[in-house]
Amino acid sequence: MHEVSIALGMVDELFRIAKENHAKKITLVRLKIGKMSGIVTDSLKFAFDAIKLEHPLLSGAEILIEEVPLVYECSDCHVSFSAEDIYFPACEACGSRNLKLVSGEEQHIESVEIEV
Ligand SMILES: [Zn+2]
Repeated sequence: MHEVSIALGMVDELFRIAKENHAKKITLVRLKIGKMSGIVTDSLKFAFDAIKLEHPLLSGAEILIEEVPLVYECSDCHVSFSAEDIYFPACEACGSRNLKLVSGEEQHIESVEIEV
């Protein structure tokens, strides 16, 4: 499962953050996951919940995942809009397919709350 390796990578980063801040515990982790990232957020949450139990530093942490919608900007009329369609999006205003993806590819740790 793709999401397990992503969760493991994020856990490594969380440990680094915890160490830098001399944290005793991580209490809350907010993740931003774009719709375009290909990550299934339920699977990611599941993987995290399984991994965190192995680490006292992380075991009490709540994992919140924010799904970031796809936002495109039209290169022809410069309108920005969010779209559900990953494969054949078209501009809401002019119908152009000449679009630039503005957000939706995120896969990162947005913020972390710790106990020191
Ligand atoms: Zn347009």
